[in-house]
Amino acid sequence: MNKAQLFAKRTKIIATLGPASNTPTTVKALIQAGVDVFRINASHCVSSEPIRDLVYLVRDVADKMDRPVGIFLDLQGPKIRIGEFKEEQVKVKTGQMFTITAEKVLGDATRVSASYPGFVDDVQVGDPLYINDGKIRMRVNSKEGRAVTCKVLQGGVLSNRKGVNLPITQISLSPVTEKDYADAKVGVEAGVDYIALSFVSNSEDVDLLRKYLDSLGGKNIKIISKIERQLAVDHVISIIEKSDAVMVARGDLGVEIGVQNVPRVQKLIIRESNRLIKPVIVATQMLESMITSSSATRAEVSDVANAIYDRCDAVMLSGETAVGINPVEVARTMREICMAADEDMMHQKQEEGVKISFVHSSQATSICKAADQIAEENHATAILAFTSSGNTPLIASKLNSSFPIISPTDDELVCKRMSLYRGVIPLMLPRKFNDIHRWTEMIHVAIEQAKVTGLVKAKDVLVVTAGIPIGISNGINSIRVVTVE
Ligand code: ATP
Ligand code: MG
Ligand code: MG
Repeated sequence: MNKAQLFAKRTKIIATLGPASNTPTTVKALIQAGVDVFRINASHCVSSEPIRDLVYLVRDVADKMDRPVGIFLDLQGPKIRIGEFKEEQVKVKTGQMFTITAEKVLGDATRVSASYPGFVDDVQVGDPLYINDGKIRMRVNSKEGRAVTCKVLQGGVLSNRKGVNLPITQISLSPVTEKDYADAKVGVEAGVDYIALSFVSNSEDVDLLRKYLDSLGGKNIKIISKIERQLAVDHVISIIEKSDAVMVARGDLGVEIGVQNVPRVQKLIIRESNRLIKPVIVATQMLESMITSSSATRAEVSDVANAIYDRCDAVMLSGETAVGINPVEVARTMREICMAADEDMMHQKQEEGVKISFVHSSQATSICKAADQIAEENHATAILAFTSSGNTPLIASKLNSSFPIISPTDDELVCKRMSLYRGVIPLMLPRKFNDIHRWTEMIHVAIEQAKVTGLVKAKDVLVVTAGIPIGISNGINSIRVVTVE
């Protein structure tokens, strides 16, 4: 993307890797098309090894392009999935019987294995059982030994490892499973930026993963909580407060709370995340039809734009880039939708002014608000928000500023982490804050770097925020207005 595009596209795009996209050429093309963060879905990695390969693949391409690309590892969580089939896919018909067995078998049109054999003990005859985000619906008809046989109420196509939902069954799986621990360990070793926890029920689940990551030396890895069940909706505020970021995981959420309730909950999660200054992602079926078609539907485009108008940080592509016919075209379409909505929102803000009421005010939130106002009244080109933790840029981003927030940092992890923040352009400095002693020098180093990357030019007006003295991180306390020479 060129400078105009970098400035115009505020919303971040996440693309899921899969068979359609996990090559250096496609990853490169996806980054060029506007992807900011890659998602590795552990659910579709049979062992932990492919996770490592995918992290290295993305890092390698992004480093060569010199772009701060983020990576997040999405843990499967306590989700039951069907196993694999002999054929690529099978068709189950409405009215037929279908067996799900604890035995390890290759599936066909009459039966398939399950990833969590214990589920046979948990389900009761009469329980509803949904597959693939509720597209296929069954009811448990009988249990025989290590298998359950279901009556198919709504048939359809099944393929490997589709998710199973049992909306009324009490499942005895722990919130972080053995597979999750093993996958997270590989994620920490390979150096992912974020790890997503699926099927969070309450803030203690987040604590559990936090402790584990810390024990592996993964203190710097941030946790994304996926809100996808009623229990999480009930505890949403405490979960957002405990997490580093949240995701509206609409696939399972729709099955668990009813699709008609998803829009309301999506708006609630976005609003509360913004008030609590946490990045928020909207996911699932955003451009679903493009898995098999070359254009998006009006409804999909509208859905993506509306998530942006509600002010999410990032929109996510799942199957569209993992298994779709043209992942790069999907990313381009997404970028165009983002740019159109982002641009419109900037005008709106200039006309009406958007007041944000954060739940917790601080010196940092006040300074960011002041910087934004100074930028507006002095026709600034951008805000230059120095950071050693990513904190100030995140606050600035939540103000829905009409200005790009260029965020110089000396920490590579922070740089990549900021790839998720709406409106933030991470800028990696060639020197450490500790080696810089004067604030004029710091501004000079950052502006030179921003010139090299084409972000600023002579005569641009920048509103600078920083914590002085430099390198001692006791928060932001200073604002300056500078004109680029
Ligand atoms: P989650 O509940 O974590 O979102 P999911 O099964 O919905 O899991 P997504 O990553 O959202 O998975 O992708 C949507 C669909 O795309 C999947 O159901 C699957 O059919 C396909 N898919 C995604 N990634 C892969 C992959 N690596 N290999 C094969 N198929 C994949
Ligand atoms: Mg999904
Ligand atoms: Mg899910």
